Amino acid sequence: MTFDPAPAISVAAADKAFGSMVAVHGASLEVPKGELVALLGPSGSGKTTLLRMIAGFERPDAGTIAIGGRRVAGPGVWVEPESRRVGMVFQAGALFPHLDVAANVGFGAPRRERVGECLGLVGLADRAHSYPHELSGGERQRVALARALAAEPDVVLLDEPFAALDASLREELRTEVAEVLRRAGASALLVTHDQAEALSLARTVAVMRDGRIEQVGSPQEIYERPRSRWVAEFLGEADVLPGTAAGGMVECELGCFGVGDGLAGTVEIVVRPEAVAIGGGSPSAGAARATVVDGAFFGHDHLVHLQLASGRRLRSRRLGAPAWHPGDEVDVWIDGPVSALTPAGD
Ligand code: ATP
Repeated sequence: MTFDPAPAISVAAADKAFGSMVAVHGASLEVPKGELVALLGPSGSGKTTLLRMIAGFERPDAGTIAIGGRRVAGPGVWVEPESRRVGMVFQAGALFPHLDVAANVGFGAPRRERVGECLGLVGLADRAHSYPHELSGGERQRVALARALAAEPDVVLLDEPFAALDASLREELRTEVAEVLRRAGASALLVTHDQAEALSLARTVAVMRDGRIEQVGSPQEIYERPRSRWVAEFLGEADVLPGTAAGGMVECELGCFGVGDGLAGTVEIVVRPEAVAIGGGSPSAGAARATVVDGAFFGHDHLVHLQLASGRRLRSRRLGAPAWHPGDEVDVWIDGPVSALTPAGD
């Protein structure tokens, strides 16, 4: 058995500026073979620029890029986009309107059989002779994916492929696309500004901010152990309380928790609303007291805004309908993971 350790994509210390605008700075990223990695960040953080450098549509000012172990950009090295063995799926499918589905998918495919195989993979075998304008938005994106896979690329790059679809279709299609990529054994990099999309689909998420990759990790790692307050708040609802750390424990207004070693002194404790429980009405050991400020019901869960004795605000998100009203005095306690950060001034 042969073992090829080269990652599907390897970007090392890539920089790209447009005039004085630094779009990407010192970005390093790896996509292991056969895996889906998400590049997640707000608008303008440099995701598309990084993707375009990997595809070969932009030249990095510095750094190196390798695809399947072959260097495609770097000092003295430049491989044209068409020779990089990269498949692309954009926000709006970019299909040829005058070609039917089979011809679109066959464009660039090395073998005729690939067309049927890839249309089968995306569940559109019976639409081979339809034209793009006869398809729904979701179907067009599935054709775009089939076309990218049909060329047997080393990597598939997806740039906000679901952004133009309405919410329910988006959710359905993204699960389907992740499944197709997995079944095809494809290595893929997905650019998105949608936290839920990145967390639910990718094995690894790289969070980008202001041109830099701020944190890379599994969805659970980056959600439960964000490296900065910015990552914590970007990935979901988070309240931050001041605390003190010593010996692997932190103490704050809500009690004392284990957060792992390595922190000492003043810390910021990141509390997700779903890790905050409310109960009782009479003081109990280990719980802090809080006053209910407001609440909102969302159908499958509800959010309660609380004010602690210190005056600090905290949110609690729980399943079902709220049993609390503004003005109620309640006990609050931590019922889930919390993380602690060294205050970094971001
Ligand atoms: P979005 O989600 O809005 O697409 P993004 O994270 O993909 O954002 P980029 O499109 O990579 O971000 O843009 C990063 C920064 O670089 C932005 O400030 C953008 O205006 C700038 N930029 C990107 N391409 C160019 C260009 N060709 N010329 C000048 N500035 C550019």
